[in-house]
Amino acid sequence: MQTLAIVGASLAGISAARSARAQGFAGRLVIIGDEAHRPYDRPPLSKDFLAGKITPGHLLLENAGEGEAADPLQAEWLLGRAARSLDAGARRVTLDDGSVIEADGVVIATGASARTLPELAGLANVFTLRTLEDAQDLAPELVPGTRLVIVGAGFIGAEVASTARALGVEVTVVCTGAVPLSRPLGAEMAATLAALHGINGVELICDATVESYYSGEGVVSGLRLADGRYLPADVVLVAIGAVPNTAWLAGSGIELGDGVLCDPMGRTNVPGVVAVGDCAAWLDEESGRHRRVEHWSCAAERPSLAVTALLDPGAARRPLNLPYFWSDQYNVRIQFAGQARDTDQVSIEAGDPAAHSFLAVYYRGGEPVAVLGVNQPRLFNKWKRQLNAARPVDTPAAEGHAGVAAAGTAAAGTAPGSATPTSAAPTCTARSVLAVSASFA
Ligand SMILES: Cc1cc2nc3c(=O)[nH]c(=O)nc-3n(C[C@H](O)[C@H](O)[C@H](O)COP(=O)(O)OP(=O)(O)OC[C@H]3O[C@@H](n4cnc5c(N)ncnc54)[C@H](O)[C@@H]3O)c2cc1C
Repeated sequence: MQTLAIVGASLAGISAARSARAQGFAGRLVIIGDEAHRPYDRPPLSKDFLAGKITPGHLLLENAGEGEAADPLQAEWLLGRAARSLDAGARRVTLDDGSVIEADGVVIATGASARTLPELAGLANVFTLRTLEDAQDLAPELVPGTRLVIVGAGFIGAEVASTARALGVEVTVVCTGAVPLSRPLGAEMAATLAALHGINGVELICDATVESYYSGEGVVSGLRLADGRYLPADVVLVAIGAVPNTAWLAGSGIELGDGVLCDPMGRTNVPGVVAVGDCAAWLDEESGRHRRVEHWSCAAERPSLAVTALLDPGAARRPLNLPYFWSDQYNVRIQFAGQARDTDQVSIEAGDPAAHSFLAVYYRGGEPVAVLGVNQPRLFNKWKRQLNAARPVDTPAAEGHAGVAAAGTAAAGTAPGSATPTSAAPTCTARSVLAVSASFA
């Protein structure tokens, strides 16, 4: 391979670039990013950066030397330049200035954008949070006494509520479901964490539908819920998830669904083109469905696998780690690995949910499949390591896009912890720990 083009210059893109060099790629490496900034980290945007505790300089993702003259990546950085289209068969990327990058391999790493509410478009006090500019716009609004209404109670909504409350803002969070975060955490554990809002003085309104918005002179002044309640607002944050940035791939020949459809190694339907990070929907072998996983760890880890598939199609497949995310809310660190289902049996292995310091293990068919740590980092990491150690062993890589591979042989492992609801010494099999899913937003 002579030229590798990476489209998207954020976490997944830079991770792919590092992996390519680490795996011996010595050719031309072009990284195209439509943001003018050097690659930066998004998780602090809703936490320390929004709180004013750190500056943009603290967000940089590059290691020492990267991006400088003696860049160990030896990459051509085309920043502030958007890819407008891809001729996937020919692996030609056309940029917004009309220039064309011809490559032998293409990594699609264009991430996702905050979902918006069209009826609020253009109003001055309505925000979303995805980019550095979004955080810089929102931060000055978070002053004591301001009434902030957050539409959506996912992780970003909850983190902004927490940050804003600590700054003295009056916060109301509105969500459509009965309990926020019940999809990623399961209803029982989600309810435990939802209580953090009330304990910290944030009003959480569940099962709510916004019926109308009141606006005038270019700003929103309040919103009315379907039950008739009126919520006055000085600032509104729309935190209702993210949509994959795939519009530029229309007509490219790349198969799209909710994201770029890929096999379990990130290969698209077109040879020589892979997709990674928040824009990529890799095939989940257990469910047979494509799933987009919007977690930092997946954007950091999976590019290595996709680059392997690109550079060495015959290489053995490596097992995927369980999807993992963390979230910081109200001085509580939430960590989760795996994928919860409503039917899982949840066992508190340590601590006390009422004290918001505990470890919960999710069992399916008597086997541990996922773990939730709340202010329990050491125990959580032990469980996570153990569950990951039970991932399937290597399988041949050359399966092609459409193939749903067999789950592989499980390297059986014994999870740490003594008490389990159904088995004294639970073992983890490939099938029980393979599922991937979930969004961070
Ligand atoms: C506020 C916030 C807080 C978060 N906190 C956590 C957390 O605590 N824990 C956790 O696990 N995860 C968290 N996440 C999720 C995590 O940050 C993402 O999973 C990760 O950033 C995904 O990286 P990515 O490179 O795939 O996509 P992105 O970071 O979205 O980067 C994609 C890049 O591609 C660019 N691009 C798009 N289209 C084009 C184009 N046509 N041409 C060129 N460039 C293009 C985009 O502008 C962007 O720079 C958070 C996300 C946000 C927004």
